[in-house]
Amino acid sequence: MRVLGIETTCDETAAAIVSIERSGESRILSNEVLSQIAAHAAYGGVVPEIAARAHVEAIDRIIARAFAHADLKPGDIDAVAAAAGPGLVGGVMVGLTAGKAIALATGKPFIAVNHLEAHALTARLTDDLAFPYLLLLVSGGHTQLLAVRGVGDYLRLGGTIDDAVGEAFDKIAKMLALPYPGGPSVEREAAKGDPERFDFPRPLQGRPTPDFSLSGLKTAVRLVAERIAPLSDNDVADLCASFQAAIVDVMVDRTRAGLRACREAGITPTTLVVAGGVAANQAIRSGLTRLATEAGLPMVAPPLALCGDNGAMIAWAGLERLRLGLVDDMSAVARPRWPLDELAAKPATAA
Ligand code: ATP
Ligand code: MG
Ligand code: FE
Repeated sequence: MRVLGIETTCDETAAAIVSIERSGESRILSNEVLSQIAAHAAYGGVVPEIAARAHVEAIDRIIARAFAHADLKPGDIDAVAAAAGPGLVGGVMVGLTAGKAIALATGKPFIAVNHLEAHALTARLTDDLAFPYLLLLVSGGHTQLLAVRGVGDYLRLGGTIDDAVGEAFDKIAKMLALPYPGGPSVEREAAKGDPERFDFPRPLQGRPTPDFSLSGLKTAVRLVAERIAPLSDNDVADLCASFQAAIVDVMVDRTRAGLRACREAGITPTTLVVAGGVAANQAIRSGLTRLATEAGLPMVAPPLALCGDNGAMIAWAGLERLRLGLVDDMSAVARPRWPLDELAAKPATAA
């Protein structure tokens, strides 16, 4: 089985073809990602209007490249999957419409994929990972702990009450005049700095409910940065290192609470999984590996190239759904908001 996946929910125009053999072996046949970083860098964040227009300009070319690099023609695939949300609705409509058009033209089934479900299932594309697992989903717009019981079957254990982790990284970077996107910039600076120079708060540490709060930490960094300004290169590196150390402690402590909540819900996870753009962060990966060892579980994170938004994760989620007969029809709509625990086996359709 081969599925084309299309991703346009934020600032990456992406298309990929993923296959699965009868033996269960999966392969990424192509994975084309065009990042709009340059178009948004001047604004320090994603500008929805610019993003939508850039998706329109790039989508045909990126899909053609996904077919060319896989050495396949549209008729060679078994289904088309496109992210239908959550995300910036102008961009989502571009990918969704392109996906429907290819499905109609080829007569193949269409699957409207939830972008968060795609992040949540990505680790199963590259690892032999069994349900149920505890998932820490950390991205630009989301920070959640979920028990993943199966495809389309998510129990939300907790989440952020203010900022998402990726958002916090992006805001700290902007505050310190580091290049956009912020996560990789802050991680790079942190590697050069002293994580113990500033003692930033670890919000909600020790609380039994697996929720997150990051805005107080962000404010603490801003107050210190203002107090010691003008900032030297060393100051910036130390602020990043101390901020990242606080984030790692928070992720580990909150995920520990998530493990407890998961077991209290009667679910015994096979694995601890981290996914989403922030899962690329090495310090967070190491912290979670330590926690998993402490809990006697394996820790799995997708390869770096599959942490940020990409087409392969959409194609894979499409494949997982196709295998279960969960296909959609042409009435699937773009959804700016689409929480995972509201994910029905039946798709969202227009009224
Ligand atoms: P969502 O998936 O919630 O809809 P999104 O698709 O914009 O949001 P992703 O592309 O999954 O988010 O992740 C992007 C986020 O990941 C950005 O906030 C970025 O700063 C962050 N990020 C990327 N690499 C790193 C890193 N190495 N360390 C920390 N954060 C990172
Ligand atoms: Mg992005
Ligand atoms: Fe994402």
